[in-house]
Amino acid sequence: MDLKAFRKKASAKKAKLTAFLQKLDDIVPEDMPKLVTEVDATVWRDVDCTTCANCCKTMTPTFTPKDIKRISAHVGMTAAEFKEKWLHKEEDTGDWVNDNQPCQFLVNDMCSIYEVRPRDCAEFPHHYKRPFDMYNDTFIQNLHRCPATFTLVERLEQRVRKEYEW
Ligand code: SF4
Ligand code: SF4
Repeated sequence: MDLKAFRKKASAKKAKLTAFLQKLDDIVPEDMPKLVTEVDATVWRDVDCTTCANCCKTMTPTFTPKDIKRISAHVGMTAAEFKEKWLHKEEDTGDWVNDNQPCQFLVNDMCSIYEVRPRDCAEFPHHYKRPFDMYNDTFIQNLHRCPATFTLVERLEQRVRKEYEW
């Protein structure tokens, strides 16, 4: 994955795709869940997370208490030691998040705790969540960070424009 080229392309199209997602806040095309599922399947034929890891390099997951318990046990620490070494609590949300970016568990662009990774990581980039338009703000935030989300929204915009005469 050429992340430099991705960032350039995403930056050029971000305004247009953001406007599309904002329009989805007001108008949801008929058959949207089916359309998203169809288009998302095409995305994962073309985007390979194992050559990217941009989410792990540029964002932090939130760690739930269950995540902290599971992961700290996995790495042989207490939850308190784990939090002290790697995390801090966000003042506004109270969420536990990473101190560092890239994530400390990213090794050679792979997650070294994949089987016990935070739920937030396992669910990212949230394309399967429904109703899709409930997550428009998340997708707007991730357009320039996640090549999969960018590709999904770009292809959705093309399909909706063509098939629904937007
Ligand atoms: S825990 Fe793993 S998947 Fe989650 S951000 Fe860190 S390296 Fe990436
Ligand atoms: S989820 Fe998105 S940002 Fe993360 S590795 Fe996959 S394509 Fe890259």
